[in-house]
Amino acid sequence: MKKLILCLLLTFVDCASEHDVKVAIIGSGMAGLSTANRFLEQNFENFEVFEALDRYGGRVYPVAYGDGYFQHGAQFINGDKNPLFELASELGVVSDVYPDYGHLSDAIVKYGNCPVDEADIDAFRKFADPLDGKYHDVAYNDEKRSYSETVKSMFDKDYAEFLKEQDAESGFRRSVFDSLSLTLRSYFEFEYAARWEELSLRAIEEWDDLGEVGVSYTTDKIGYTAIIDHLRSKIPDSKIHFNHRIANIDYSGPKTVLTLTNGTKIGGFDYVIVTSSIGHLKKFARKMFTPQLPQRKLKAIDKIGMGTSAKIFLEFPDMSWRKDEIVTPLPVAGCLGRKVLDPIEEEFNTFQPISWAPNVLMTWIAGHGPRKVDNLSDEELSNVIVKLLRDIHANDSIPAPTKIIRMKWTHNDLFGGSYSFVTYEQAQAGIKHADMSIPVRKDGKIRVQFAGEGTHHRIFQTCVGAFLSGRREADRILDMTH
Ligand SMILES: Cc1cc2nc3c(=O)[nH]c(=O)nc-3n(C[C@H](O)[C@H](O)[C@H](O)COP(=O)(O)OP(=O)(O)OC[C@H]3O[C@@H](n4cnc5c(N)ncnc54)[C@H](O)[C@@H]3O)c2cc1C
Repeated sequence: MKKLILCLLLTFVDCASEHDVKVAIIGSGMAGLSTANRFLEQNFENFEVFEALDRYGGRVYPVAYGDGYFQHGAQFINGDKNPLFELASELGVVSDVYPDYGHLSDAIVKYGNCPVDEADIDAFRKFADPLDGKYHDVAYNDEKRSYSETVKSMFDKDYAEFLKEQDAESGFRRSVFDSLSLTLRSYFEFEYAARWEELSLRAIEEWDDLGEVGVSYTTDKIGYTAIIDHLRSKIPDSKIHFNHRIANIDYSGPKTVLTLTNGTKIGGFDYVIVTSSIGHLKKFARKMFTPQLPQRKLKAIDKIGMGTSAKIFLEFPDMSWRKDEIVTPLPVAGCLGRKVLDPIEEEFNTFQPISWAPNVLMTWIAGHGPRKVDNLSDEELSNVIVKLLRDIHANDSIPAPTKIIRMKWTHNDLFGGSYSFVTYEQAQAGIKHADMSIPVRKDGKIRVQFAGEGTHHRIFQTCVGAFLSGRREADRILDMTH
Protein backbone atom coordinates (compact mmCIF):
# COMPACT_ATOMS: atom_id res chain seq x y z
CA MET A 1 0.00 0.00 0.00
CA LYS A 2 2.86 2.34 0.96
CA LYS A 3 4.37 1.69 -2.47
CA LEU A 4 1.05 2.30 -4.22
CA ILE A 5 0.65 5.69 -2.53
CA LEU A 6 4.24 6.62 -3.45
CA CYS A 7 3.54 5.54 -7.04
CA LEU A 8 0.55 7.83 -7.24
CA LEU A 9 2.43 10.75 -5.73
CA LEU A 10 5.92 10.48 -7.14
CA THR A 11 6.91 9.88 -10.74
CA PHE A 12 10.42 8.63 -9.89
CA VAL A 13 9.25 5.55 -8.02
CA ASP A 14 9.30 2.40 -10.19
CA CYS A 15 5.72 1.17 -10.06
CA ALA A 16 5.54 -1.67 -12.53
CA SER A 17 4.54 -5.03 -11.09
CA GLU A 18 6.72 -8.07 -11.72
CA HIS A 19 4.16 -9.39 -14.23
CA ASP A 20 4.60 -6.34 -16.48
CA VAL A 21 8.35 -6.01 -16.55
CA LYS A 22 10.76 -7.60 -18.97
CA VAL A 23 14.47 -7.83 -18.22
CA ALA A 24 17.50 -8.35 -20.46
CA ILE A 25 20.64 -9.83 -18.93
CA ILE A 26 23.78 -9.15 -20.97
CA GLY A 27 26.25 -11.99 -20.49
CA SER A 28 26.11 -15.56 -19.22
CA GLY A 29 29.21 -15.52 -17.04
CA MET A 30 28.98 -16.09 -13.31
CA ALA A 31 27.08 -12.83 -12.75
CA GLY A 32 24.60 -13.42 -15.60
CA LEU A 33 23.95 -17.03 -14.56
CA SER A 34 23.52 -15.96 -10.95
CA THR A 35 21.06 -13.18 -11.90
CA ALA A 36 18.94 -15.61 -13.91
CA ASN A 37 19.01 -18.21 -11.11
CA ARG A 38 17.94 -15.63 -8.55
CA PHE A 39 14.98 -14.62 -10.74
CA LEU A 40 13.95 -18.24 -11.14
CA GLU A 41 14.28 -18.91 -7.40
CA GLN A 42 11.80 -16.08 -6.91
CA ASN A 43 9.50 -17.39 -9.68
CA PHE A 44 10.19 -14.47 -11.98
CA GLU A 45 10.56 -15.70 -15.55
CA ASN A 46 10.23 -12.65 -17.78
CA PHE A 47 13.91 -12.30 -18.64
CA GLU A 48 16.23 -13.17 -21.47
CA VAL A 49 19.98 -13.69 -21.44
CA PHE A 50 22.13 -12.48 -24.37
CA GLU A 51 25.62 -13.93 -24.65
CA ALA A 52 28.16 -12.96 -27.31
CA LEU A 53 29.99 -16.29 -27.19
CA ASP A 54 28.75 -19.76 -28.09
CA ARG A 55 29.28 -20.89 -24.49
CA TYR A 56 28.32 -19.86 -20.95
CA GLY A 57 30.76 -19.21 -18.10
CA GLY A 58 32.68 -16.17 -19.40
CA ARG A 59 35.85 -15.95 -17.35
CA VAL A 60 35.01 -19.34 -15.89
CA TYR A 61 36.42 -21.28 -18.80
CA PRO A 62 36.99 -25.00 -18.36
CA VAL A 63 38.68 -27.04 -21.06
CA ALA A 64 38.24 -30.80 -20.85
CA TYR A 65 41.45 -32.78 -20.41
CA GLY A 66 41.62 -36.44 -19.45
CA ASP A 67 39.01 -37.01 -16.76
CA GLY A 68 39.10 -33.42 -15.52
CA TYR A 69 39.17 -29.82 -16.70
CA PHE A 70 41.88 -27.24 -17.01
CA GLN A 71 40.43 -24.03 -15.68
CA HIS A 72 41.68 -21.15 -17.78
CA GLY A 73 39.85 -18.80 -15.47
CA ALA A 74 38.54 -19.21 -11.93
CA GLN A 75 39.82 -22.11 -9.89
CA PHE A 76 39.82 -20.97 -6.24
CA ILE A 77 36.92 -19.91 -4.04
CA ASN A 78 37.51 -16.89 -1.86
CA GLY A 79 36.00 -17.27 1.57
CA ASP A 80 33.64 -19.83 3.06
CA LYS A 81 30.94 -17.41 4.19
CA ASN A 82 29.10 -16.97 0.93
CA PRO A 83 26.47 -18.85 -1.11
CA LEU A 84 28.95 -19.80 -3.86
CA PHE A 85 31.11 -21.67 -1.38
CA GLU A 86 27.96 -23.38 -0.09
CA LEU A 87 26.96 -24.38 -3.61
CA ALA A 88 30.46 -25.65 -4.38
CA SER A 89 30.39 -27.68 -1.16
CA GLU A 90 26.99 -29.15 -2.02
CA LEU A 91 28.32 -30.11 -5.45
CA GLY A 92 31.34 -31.69 -3.73
CA VAL A 93 34.01 -29.79 -5.66
CA VAL A 94 35.82 -27.95 -2.84
CA SER A 95 39.02 -29.88 -2.28
CA ASP A 96 41.30 -28.07 0.14
CA VAL A 97 42.26 -24.83 1.81
CA TYR A 98 45.47 -23.34 0.49
CA PRO A 99 47.61 -20.31 1.41
CA ASP A 100 47.69 -17.67 -1.34
CA TYR A 101 51.46 -17.57 -0.89
CA GLY A 102 51.75 -21.38 -1.20
CA HIS A 103 53.09 -21.60 -4.73
CA LEU A 104 56.08 -19.53 -3.59
CA SER A 105 56.71 -20.83 -0.08
CA ASP A 106 56.31 -24.50 -1.14
CA ALA A 107 58.51 -24.05 -4.23
CA ILE A 108 62.03 -25.29 -4.90
CA VAL A 109 64.17 -22.52 -6.40
CA LYS A 110 66.13 -23.81 -9.42
CA TYR A 111 69.04 -21.98 -11.04
CA GLY A 112 70.97 -24.70 -12.85
CA ASN A 113 74.73 -24.25 -12.99
CA CYS A 114 74.60 -20.64 -11.94
CA PRO A 115 76.74 -19.97 -8.82
CA VAL A 116 73.85 -18.84 -6.63
CA ASP A 117 74.43 -19.03 -2.88
CA GLU A 118 71.52 -20.78 -1.09
CA ALA A 119 72.14 -18.43 1.85
CA ASP A 120 71.09 -15.53 -0.39
CA ILE A 121 67.86 -17.32 -1.25
CA ASP A 122 67.19 -17.82 2.47
CA ALA A 123 68.02 -14.17 3.20
CA PHE A 124 65.60 -13.04 0.50
CA ARG A 125 62.86 -15.32 1.80
CA LYS A 126 63.29 -13.99 5.34
CA PHE A 127 63.01 -10.48 3.94
CA ALA A 128 60.08 -11.18 1.59
CA ASP A 129 57.86 -13.45 3.70
CA PRO A 130 56.57 -10.74 6.09
CA LEU A 131 55.98 -8.13 3.37
CA ASP A 132 52.44 -9.18 2.44
CA GLY A 133 51.47 -8.95 6.13
CA LYS A 134 53.23 -5.60 6.45
CA TYR A 135 51.39 -4.15 3.44
CA HIS A 136 48.09 -5.40 4.88
CA ASP A 137 48.91 -3.60 8.16
CA VAL A 138 49.69 -0.34 6.37
CA ALA A 139 46.58 -0.65 4.20
CA TYR A 140 44.34 -1.28 7.22
CA ASN A 141 45.92 1.14 9.69
CA ASP A 142 47.43 4.05 7.80
CA GLU A 143 44.69 5.59 5.71
CA LYS A 144 46.87 8.30 4.16
CA ARG A 145 49.45 5.84 2.89
CA SER A 146 46.78 3.42 1.77
CA TYR A 147 45.82 6.10 -0.78
CA SER A 148 49.29 7.34 -1.67
CA GLU A 149 51.24 4.08 -2.01
CA THR A 150 51.21 1.31 -4.56
CA VAL A 151 52.47 -2.18 -3.75
CA LYS A 152 55.55 -1.45 -5.84
CA SER A 153 56.30 1.89 -4.18
CA MET A 154 56.20 0.06 -0.83
CA PHE A 155 58.39 -2.74 -2.12
CA ASP A 156 60.95 -0.41 -3.71
CA LYS A 157 61.66 1.24 -0.36
CA ASP A 158 61.88 -2.07 1.50
CA TYR A 159 64.05 -3.59 -1.19
CA ALA A 160 66.51 -0.67 -1.19
CA GLU A 161 66.98 -1.14 2.56
CA PHE A 162 67.39 -4.89 2.17
CA LEU A 163 70.06 -4.47 -0.50
CA LYS A 164 71.93 -2.03 1.73
CA GLU A 165 71.80 -4.42 4.69
CA GLN A 166 73.05 -7.21 2.44
CA ASP A 167 75.77 -5.01 0.96
CA ALA A 168 74.46 -6.06 -2.44
CA GLU A 169 73.52 -2.83 -4.16
CA SER A 170 75.38 -3.91 -7.29
CA GLY A 171 77.18 -6.95 -8.67
CA PHE A 172 76.15 -10.55 -9.11
CA ARG A 173 74.35 -10.90 -5.77
CA ARG A 174 72.25 -7.90 -6.72
CA SER A 175 71.25 -9.72 -9.92
CA VAL A 176 70.28 -12.77 -7.87
CA PHE A 177 68.11 -10.65 -5.57
CA ASP A 178 66.57 -8.88 -8.59
CA SER A 179 65.55 -12.25 -10.00
CA LEU A 180 64.16 -13.35 -6.65
CA SER A 181 62.17 -10.11 -6.49
CA LEU A 182 60.34 -11.21 -9.63
CA THR A 183 58.84 -14.10 -7.68
CA LEU A 184 57.39 -11.71 -5.14
CA ARG A 185 56.16 -9.42 -7.90
CA SER A 186 54.44 -12.38 -9.53
CA TYR A 187 52.69 -13.23 -6.24
CA PHE A 188 51.11 -9.77 -5.99
CA GLU A 189 50.46 -9.53 -9.69
CA PHE A 190 48.72 -12.89 -9.89
CA GLU A 191 46.79 -12.37 -6.66
CA TYR A 192 45.46 -9.01 -7.85
CA ALA A 193 45.88 -9.52 -11.64
CA ALA A 194 47.51 -6.12 -11.58
CA ARG A 195 50.70 -4.48 -12.71
CA TRP A 196 52.18 -3.83 -9.28
CA GLU A 197 53.24 -0.29 -10.09
CA GLU A 198 49.53 0.53 -10.60
CA LEU A 199 48.16 -1.54 -7.70
CA SER A 200 46.96 0.76 -4.92
CA LEU A 201 47.18 -0.37 -1.31
CA ARG A 202 43.47 0.42 -1.26
CA ALA A 203 43.01 -2.89 -3.08
CA ILE A 204 44.13 -4.65 0.08
CA GLU A 205 42.04 -2.43 2.34
CA GLU A 206 38.84 -2.60 0.35
CA TRP A 207 38.90 -6.28 -0.59
CA ASP A 208 37.35 -8.65 1.95
CA ASP A 209 36.19 -12.25 1.59
CA LEU A 210 35.03 -12.34 5.24
CA GLY A 211 37.39 -15.26 5.81
CA GLU A 212 40.89 -15.81 7.10
CA VAL A 213 43.37 -13.43 5.43
CA GLY A 214 45.67 -15.10 2.91
CA VAL A 215 43.88 -18.38 2.26
CA SER A 216 41.51 -19.57 -0.45
CA TYR A 217 39.71 -22.83 -1.13
CA THR A 218 40.94 -24.99 -3.96
CA THR A 219 38.57 -26.92 -6.15
CA ASP A 220 39.03 -30.42 -7.55
CA LYS A 221 39.57 -31.43 -11.17
CA ILE A 222 35.91 -30.74 -11.99
CA GLY A 223 35.76 -27.55 -9.94
CA TYR A 224 33.99 -24.56 -11.42
CA THR A 225 32.71 -26.68 -14.32
CA ALA A 226 30.20 -28.27 -11.95
CA ILE A 227 29.19 -24.87 -10.60
CA ILE A 228 28.46 -23.21 -13.95
CA ASP A 229 26.82 -26.37 -15.33
CA HIS A 230 24.54 -26.45 -12.30
CA LEU A 231 23.58 -22.77 -12.65
CA ARG A 232 23.06 -23.14 -16.40
CA SER A 233 20.91 -26.25 -16.01
CA LYS A 234 18.24 -24.26 -14.14
CA ILE A 235 17.73 -21.81 -17.03
CA PRO A 236 15.33 -22.91 -19.81
CA ASP A 237 17.07 -23.04 -23.24
CA SER A 238 14.51 -20.60 -24.65
CA LYS A 239 15.77 -17.87 -22.32
CA ILE A 240 19.43 -17.95 -23.23
CA HIS A 241 20.65 -16.70 -26.60
CA PHE A 242 24.23 -17.52 -27.56
CA ASN A 243 26.15 -15.72 -30.34
CA HIS A 244 24.16 -12.58 -29.53
CA ARG A 245 26.69 -9.81 -29.04
CA ILE A 246 25.12 -6.53 -27.96
CA ALA A 247 26.53 -3.45 -29.68
CA ASN A 248 24.11 -0.89 -28.30
CA ILE A 249 21.62 -0.48 -25.47
CA ASP A 250 19.19 2.32 -26.28
CA TYR A 251 17.24 3.39 -23.20
CA SER A 252 16.16 6.77 -24.56
CA GLY A 253 12.53 5.67 -25.12
CA PRO A 254 9.99 4.19 -22.72
CA LYS A 255 11.30 0.65 -23.42
CA THR A 256 14.93 -0.31 -23.96
CA VAL A 257 16.06 -1.59 -27.37
CA LEU A 258 19.13 -3.79 -27.81
CA THR A 259 21.05 -3.77 -31.09
CA LEU A 260 23.17 -6.79 -31.92
CA THR A 261 26.45 -6.45 -33.80
CA ASN A 262 24.67 -7.77 -36.92
CA GLY A 263 22.19 -4.89 -36.73
CA THR A 264 19.20 -6.88 -35.44
CA LYS A 265 17.12 -4.95 -32.92
CA ILE A 266 15.37 -6.56 -29.97
CA GLY A 267 13.14 -4.29 -27.95
CA GLY A 268 10.60 -4.12 -25.17
CA PHE A 269 12.82 -4.25 -22.10
CA ASP A 270 12.14 -2.37 -18.88
CA TYR A 271 15.45 -3.16 -17.26
CA VAL A 272 18.81 -4.22 -18.67
CA ILE A 273 21.44 -5.80 -16.44
CA VAL A 274 24.89 -5.50 -18.01
CA THR A 275 27.47 -8.00 -16.76
CA SER A 276 30.26 -7.18 -19.26
CA SER A 277 33.73 -6.95 -17.75
CA ILE A 278 35.36 -3.64 -16.89
CA GLY A 279 37.78 -4.46 -19.74
CA HIS A 280 34.92 -4.69 -22.26
CA LEU A 281 33.32 -1.53 -20.93
CA LYS A 282 36.62 0.39 -21.10
CA LYS A 283 36.65 -0.25 -24.84
CA PHE A 284 32.94 -0.01 -25.66
CA ALA A 285 31.06 1.93 -22.96
CA ARG A 286 31.13 5.19 -24.90
CA LYS A 287 29.34 3.69 -27.89
CA MET A 288 27.38 0.95 -26.18
CA PHE A 289 24.75 3.15 -24.50
CA THR A 290 22.20 5.61 -25.86
CA PRO A 291 22.05 8.05 -24.20
CA GLN A 292 25.64 8.11 -23.01
CA LEU A 293 26.24 6.81 -19.48
CA PRO A 294 26.57 9.46 -16.75
CA GLN A 295 30.05 10.98 -16.42
CA ARG A 296 30.57 9.48 -12.97
CA LYS A 297 30.00 5.99 -14.37
CA LEU A 298 32.33 6.57 -17.31
CA LYS A 299 34.99 7.86 -14.93
CA ALA A 300 34.65 4.72 -12.81
CA ILE A 301 35.03 2.56 -15.92
CA ASP A 302 38.12 4.53 -16.96
CA LYS A 303 39.84 4.51 -13.56
CA ILE A 304 39.08 1.03 -12.20
CA GLY A 305 41.92 -1.23 -13.30
CA MET A 306 41.55 -4.26 -15.56
CA GLY A 307 44.43 -6.58 -14.84
CA THR A 308 45.78 -9.55 -16.65
CA SER A 309 46.74 -12.96 -15.43
CA ALA A 310 46.68 -16.27 -17.25
CA LYS A 311 47.60 -19.90 -16.92
CA ILE A 312 49.48 -21.85 -19.53
CA PHE A 313 49.25 -25.64 -19.57
CA LEU A 314 52.24 -27.44 -21.10
CA GLU A 315 51.89 -31.09 -22.08
CA PHE A 316 55.22 -32.93 -22.31
CA PRO A 317 55.91 -36.26 -24.02
CA ASP A 318 58.07 -37.31 -21.10
CA MET A 319 58.34 -36.07 -17.50
CA SER A 320 61.20 -38.24 -16.27
CA TRP A 321 63.41 -35.13 -16.10
CA ARG A 322 61.57 -33.61 -13.16
CA LYS A 323 60.43 -34.40 -9.65
CA ASP A 324 56.89 -33.84 -8.53
CA GLU A 325 57.44 -30.38 -7.08
CA ILE A 326 56.58 -26.74 -7.59
CA VAL A 327 59.56 -25.02 -9.16
CA THR A 328 60.50 -21.36 -9.06
CA PRO A 329 62.85 -20.75 -12.00
CA LEU A 330 65.68 -18.37 -11.23
CA PRO A 331 67.40 -17.15 -14.37
CA VAL A 332 70.04 -14.61 -13.31
CA ALA A 333 71.52 -11.76 -15.36
CA GLY A 334 75.25 -12.37 -15.80
CA CYS A 335 74.85 -16.11 -15.70
CA LEU A 336 74.31 -18.94 -18.23
CA GLY A 337 74.94 -16.56 -21.14
CA ARG A 338 72.36 -13.98 -20.00
CA LYS A 339 73.70 -10.41 -19.99
CA VAL A 340 70.26 -9.17 -18.97
CA LEU A 341 67.05 -11.09 -18.36
CA ASP A 342 64.93 -11.88 -21.37
CA PRO A 343 61.72 -9.78 -21.01
CA ILE A 344 59.53 -12.79 -21.79
CA GLU A 345 61.47 -15.27 -19.68
CA GLU A 346 61.28 -13.05 -16.59
CA GLU A 347 57.50 -13.43 -16.58
CA PHE A 348 57.64 -17.15 -15.70
CA ASN A 349 57.99 -17.50 -11.96
CA THR A 350 56.39 -20.83 -11.25
CA PHE A 351 56.02 -24.27 -12.84
CA GLN A 352 53.51 -26.47 -11.07
CA PRO A 353 52.53 -30.10 -11.51
CA ILE A 354 48.87 -31.07 -11.76
CA SER A 355 48.22 -34.17 -9.69
CA TRP A 356 45.60 -35.67 -12.05
CA ALA A 357 47.44 -34.78 -15.30
CA PRO A 358 50.94 -36.18 -14.77
CA ASN A 359 52.35 -35.08 -18.14
CA VAL A 360 51.32 -31.49 -17.70
CA LEU A 361 53.01 -28.51 -16.08
CA MET A 362 51.13 -25.33 -15.40
CA THR A 363 52.75 -21.92 -15.38
CA TRP A 364 51.12 -18.64 -14.35
CA ILE A 365 51.82 -15.22 -15.73
CA ALA A 366 50.44 -11.89 -14.61
CA GLY A 367 50.97 -8.13 -14.66
CA HIS A 368 52.67 -7.27 -17.94
CA GLY A 369 53.22 -10.98 -18.73
CA PRO A 370 50.01 -11.91 -20.56
CA ARG A 371 50.23 -8.95 -22.95
CA LYS A 372 53.78 -9.92 -23.87
CA VAL A 373 53.09 -13.64 -24.12
CA ASP A 374 49.77 -13.35 -25.95
CA ASN A 375 51.67 -11.83 -28.87
CA LEU A 376 53.89 -14.91 -29.24
CA SER A 377 53.14 -17.92 -31.39
CA ASP A 378 53.09 -21.31 -29.63
CA GLU A 379 56.44 -22.09 -31.22
CA GLU A 380 58.06 -18.89 -29.95
CA LEU A 381 56.60 -19.48 -26.51
CA SER A 382 57.77 -23.08 -26.48
CA ASN A 383 61.33 -22.00 -27.37
CA VAL A 384 61.50 -19.53 -24.46
CA ILE A 385 60.09 -22.03 -21.98
CA VAL A 386 62.25 -24.96 -23.08
CA LYS A 387 65.42 -22.86 -22.88
CA LEU A 388 64.46 -21.67 -19.41
CA LEU A 389 63.63 -25.18 -18.17
CA ARG A 390 66.84 -26.63 -19.64
CA ASP A 391 68.95 -23.91 -18.02
CA ILE A 392 67.42 -24.07 -14.57
CA HIS A 393 67.39 -27.87 -14.48
CA ALA A 394 70.89 -28.02 -16.08
CA ASN A 395 69.48 -30.59 -18.48
CA ASP A 396 69.70 -30.12 -22.24
CA SER A 397 67.60 -33.19 -22.98
CA ILE A 398 64.34 -31.74 -21.64
CA PRO A 399 61.88 -32.16 -24.53
CA ALA A 400 59.74 -29.40 -25.98
CA PRO A 401 56.08 -29.51 -24.98
CA THR A 402 53.91 -31.34 -27.49
CA LYS A 403 50.92 -29.19 -26.71
CA ILE A 404 50.40 -25.72 -25.27
CA ILE A 405 46.92 -25.04 -23.97
CA ARG A 406 46.26 -21.40 -23.18
CA MET A 407 43.69 -18.62 -23.38
CA LYS A 408 44.76 -15.19 -24.64
CA TRP A 409 42.59 -13.10 -22.33
CA THR A 410 44.16 -9.84 -23.49
CA HIS A 411 43.26 -10.55 -27.13
CA ASN A 412 39.56 -11.03 -26.50
CA ASP A 413 37.72 -7.73 -26.25
CA LEU A 414 34.77 -9.38 -24.51
CA PHE A 415 37.08 -9.52 -21.49
CA GLY A 416 40.05 -7.19 -22.09
CA GLY A 417 42.04 -8.94 -19.37
CA SER A 418 41.28 -11.21 -16.46
CA TYR A 419 39.82 -9.23 -13.56
CA SER A 420 39.54 -5.79 -12.06
CA PHE A 421 41.73 -4.18 -9.41
CA VAL A 422 42.02 -0.90 -7.51
CA THR A 423 44.44 1.39 -9.33
CA TYR A 424 46.42 4.23 -7.81
CA GLU A 425 44.51 6.67 -10.04
CA GLN A 426 41.19 5.22 -8.93
CA ALA A 427 42.13 5.63 -5.27
CA GLN A 428 43.30 9.19 -5.88
CA ALA A 429 39.99 9.99 -7.62
CA GLY A 430 38.00 8.52 -4.71
CA ILE A 431 36.32 5.99 -6.98
CA LYS A 432 35.15 2.69 -5.51
CA HIS A 433 34.12 -0.49 -7.23
CA ALA A 434 30.73 0.15 -5.58
CA ASP A 435 30.28 3.12 -7.95
CA MET A 436 29.80 0.57 -10.73
CA SER A 437 26.78 -0.87 -8.93
CA ILE A 438 24.80 2.38 -8.91
CA PRO A 439 21.97 1.93 -11.43
CA VAL A 440 21.54 4.34 -14.33
CA ARG A 441 18.24 6.17 -14.39
CA LYS A 442 16.32 7.94 -17.12
CA ASP A 443 13.60 10.39 -16.11
CA GLY A 444 14.08 9.20 -12.53
CA LYS A 445 13.48 5.52 -13.33
CA ILE A 446 16.07 2.77 -13.13
CA ARG A 447 16.82 1.52 -16.66
CA VAL A 448 20.33 0.10 -16.79
CA GLN A 449 22.03 -1.90 -14.03
CA PHE A 450 25.51 -3.33 -13.76
CA ALA A 451 26.54 -6.64 -12.25
CA GLY A 452 29.79 -8.61 -12.46
CA GLU A 453 32.93 -8.95 -10.40
CA GLY A 454 34.00 -5.37 -11.19
CA THR A 455 30.86 -3.99 -9.53
CA HIS A 456 31.16 -5.64 -6.13
CA HIS A 457 32.11 -3.29 -3.29
CA ARG A 458 34.00 -5.86 -1.22
CA ILE A 459 34.94 -8.97 -3.14
CA PHE A 460 35.63 -7.64 -6.64
CA GLN A 461 37.92 -9.74 -8.85
CA THR A 462 36.25 -12.99 -7.89
CA CYS A 463 33.49 -15.36 -8.83
CA VAL A 464 32.01 -14.84 -5.39
CA GLY A 465 31.75 -11.12 -6.17
CA ALA A 466 30.24 -11.84 -9.59
CA PHE A 467 27.75 -14.32 -8.09
CA LEU A 468 26.66 -11.95 -5.31
CA SER A 469 26.39 -9.00 -7.70
CA GLY A 470 24.01 -10.95 -9.95
CA ARG A 471 21.73 -11.67 -7.01
CA ARG A 472 21.96 -8.04 -5.91
CA GLU A 473 20.70 -6.75 -9.26
CA ALA A 474 17.97 -9.38 -9.55
CA ASP A 475 16.80 -8.48 -6.04
CA ARG A 476 16.84 -4.79 -6.91
CA ILE A 477 14.24 -5.45 -9.62
CA LEU A 478 12.25 -7.92 -7.55
CA ASP A 479 12.11 -5.44 -4.64
CA MET A 480 10.83 -2.71 -6.96
CA THR A 481 8.19 -4.86 -8.58
CA HIS A 482 6.93 -6.97 -5.67
C1 LIG B 1 43.29 -16.50 -15.28
C2 LIG B 1 42.15 -16.21 -14.35
C3 LIG B 1 42.16 -16.78 -13.10
C4 LIG B 1 41.11 -16.50 -12.22
N1 LIG B 1 41.10 -17.12 -11.00
C5 LIG B 1 40.05 -16.94 -10.17
C6 LIG B 1 39.92 -17.71 -9.00
O1 LIG B 1 40.74 -18.58 -8.72
N2 LIG B 1 38.83 -17.48 -8.20
C7 LIG B 1 37.89 -16.55 -8.52
O2 LIG B 1 36.92 -16.40 -7.77
N3 LIG B 1 37.98 -15.83 -9.64
C8 LIG B 1 39.03 -16.01 -10.47
N4 LIG B 1 39.08 -15.33 -11.65
C9 LIG B 1 38.10 -14.27 -11.90
C10 LIG B 1 36.73 -14.83 -12.26
O3 LIG B 1 36.86 -15.73 -13.31
C11 LIG B 1 35.83 -13.65 -12.62
O4 LIG B 1 35.80 -12.73 -11.55
C12 LIG B 1 34.39 -14.06 -12.91
O5 LIG B 1 34.32 -15.21 -13.69
C13 LIG B 1 33.70 -12.89 -13.57
O6 LIG B 1 32.37 -13.20 -13.87
P1 LIG B 1 31.43 -12.07 -14.50
O7 LIG B 1 30.11 -12.67 -14.71
O8 LIG B 1 31.55 -10.83 -13.69
O9 LIG B 1 32.11 -11.69 -15.89
P2 LIG B 1 32.40 -12.58 -17.18
O10 LIG B 1 32.83 -13.93 -16.78
O11 LIG B 1 33.33 -11.77 -18.01
O12 LIG B 1 31.00 -12.71 -17.88
C14 LIG B 1 30.50 -11.72 -18.73
C15 LIG B 1 29.87 -12.41 -19.93
O13 LIG B 1 29.28 -11.41 -20.73
C16 LIG B 1 29.57 -11.65 -22.09
N5 LIG B 1 29.53 -10.34 -22.73
C17 LIG B 1 30.33 -9.27 -22.50
N6 LIG B 1 29.98 -8.24 -23.25
C18 LIG B 1 28.93 -8.64 -24.01
C19 LIG B 1 28.15 -8.02 -25.00
N7 LIG B 1 28.38 -6.77 -25.42
N8 LIG B 1 27.14 -8.72 -25.55
C20 LIG B 1 26.87 -9.99 -25.15
N9 LIG B 1 27.62 -10.64 -24.23
C21 LIG B 1 28.63 -9.97 -23.66
C22 LIG B 1 30.95 -12.28 -22.07
O14 LIG B 1 31.17 -13.06 -23.22
C23 LIG B 1 30.88 -13.13 -20.81
O15 LIG B 1 30.41 -14.43 -21.07
C24 LIG B 1 40.07 -15.62 -12.59
C25 LIG B 1 40.06 -15.09 -13.87
C26 LIG B 1 41.07 -15.38 -14.76
C27 LIG B 1 41.01 -14.83 -16.15
